[in-house]
Amino acid sequence: MMEKSSIERCKTDVEENLREIRENIAQSAVSSGRNPDEITLLAVTKTVPPWLINHAISLGVNMIGENRVQEFLSKEDELNLENCGVHIIGHLQTNKVKYIAGKVQMIESVDSVRLASEISRLSLAAGVCTDVLIEVNIGGEESKSGVKPEQTLELIEEISKFKGISVKGLMTIPPICDIISRTEKYFSDMNKLFIDIGSKNIDNVDMKHLSMGMSADYREAIKHGATTVRVGTALFGSRKY
Ligand SMILES: *Cc1c(COP(=O)(O)O)cnc(C)c1O
Repeated sequence: MMEKSSIERCKTDVEENLREIRENIAQSAVSSGRNPDEITLLAVTKTVPPWLINHAISLGVNMIGENRVQEFLSKEDELNLENCGVHIIGHLQTNKVKYIAGKVQMIESVDSVRLASEISRLSLAAGVCTDVLIEVNIGGEESKSGVKPEQTLELIEEISKFKGISVKGLMTIPPICDIISRTEKYFSDMNKLFIDIGSKNIDNVDMKHLSMGMSADYREAIKHGATTVRVGTALFGSRKY
């Protein structure tokens, strides 16, 4: 157990960080001619203990993102989720879908027909429709999951035919760049792809969310059209694995 004083310090830190992040989001939105209300802060809670996640929720955080199904399940019972949605943001194995179908508001990391068809099958069985984002590997990195940009439209067209699953937009984790202008080029490429696919008006597809930007670059992501920014470290502090 942590000492009471260090628990209080952690909570105060999160409060201050949250205030700063909200200000930054508002500033970036306004300076790029956008309405701050269009942008949702998703708090990334991997490795963060439930008591601290609940504190963030008590401060108005209404969306959290977990990378691993197992970790989410281990915390779920302790979380105050009445007013907070959960998104799965990490690579999802097909055999894990059964644990989360009907339990999460969104799966942001769909990158194959196979995974989509399993989400469809298990959502139908649970009597729900699962919202998903398509994860795009915008930098074309070998090591990363996500569909190639040039295959994204085809994948979405395929998934749009399934029942029990609804495509709501795109998500990306761009390559790590040491120059922010390179990262911005990836964000801008994503925004183009997002707008382009949206303009096709595909049946059963509602391109309204563009999830991109993390602690180091959420301000720039907002400049380039992000509607959801996924922030972990800047909110909860650095992760100790
Ligand atoms: C960990 C993670 C984040 C948050 O990263 P930070 O740099 O800690 O803000 C965002 N998105 C995904 C998919 C992640 O795995």
